[in-house]
Amino acid sequence: MKVLVGVKRVIDYNVQVRVRPDNTDVDLTHTKMAMNPFCEIAVEEAIRLKEKGIATEIVAVSVGPKGAQEQLRTAMALGVDRALHIESEERVDSLDVARVMEKIVEEEQPGLVILGKQAIDSDNNQTGQMLAALTGMGQGTFASELAVDDEHVTVTREVDGGHQTLSLRLPAVVTTDLRLNEPRHARLPDIMKAKKKPIDTRSLESLGVEIDRHLTLERVETPAERNGGVKVGSVSELVEKLKHEAKVL
Ligand code: AMP
Repeated sequence: MKVLVGVKRVIDYNVQVRVRPDNTDVDLTHTKMAMNPFCEIAVEEAIRLKEKGIATEIVAVSVGPKGAQEQLRTAMALGVDRALHIESEERVDSLDVARVMEKIVEEEQPGLVILGKQAIDSDNNQTGQMLAALTGMGQGTFASELAVDDEHVTVTREVDGGHQTLSLRLPAVVTTDLRLNEPRHARLPDIMKAKKKPIDTRSLESLGVEIDRHLTLERVETPAERNGGVKVGSVSELVEKLKHEAKVL
């Protein structure tokens, strides 16, 4: 079974995000970029399926600027077999990505598509659901456990107050939650080997996908500054402050 995974290039989650002085967007100059953490979990799950002999090939796809090849190389160092880079220097929204993935699903015919539940830059949480709707595949979102047999994938999802288990007929789309697995780190020899693995770079036009601006980014602002906290010496001092300073009692 072929597994297709989505790999998005985003700002590294350890980095302090800066907003452009004109508030038009986030400033990405000289900013450390990384693979979206939920995509790391998607890649890890695909590798585990290959290690179990269920997946035969793992193909990673990234839609984005030239730099996205860096994250595809990382994915290949981890165990992905080959990568597709759909190059776009323009901003792509979830629906654009889902439409690209729909074309790739048509071409590649994967048995399973694993995406992150959300990209930590835009926080959209939409692409997997949109891809399922466009292709007619079943969807198991926020997977915290996954098991594949010949014709089905069983997905355990964390829902309010418990777990829900779904059985989806393959091919299907699954999106990963934090507790699905703990991704491994790439080893140096594998990073070297990954340099030789193929990345097929294509344009949006070659797939017949045109960016359709459904959304305009109006303004980005940093959160309001918060005042620092204070340590109180006693319960009575705390009650005093809550009454007279915070005025919440
Ligand atoms: P989103 O719906 O934008 O929050 O993204 C959810 C997931 O869809 C991500 O974790 C990726 O697996 C996939 N995805 C979103 N955008 C891209 C992209 N530009 N390239 C590849 N995969 C993407």
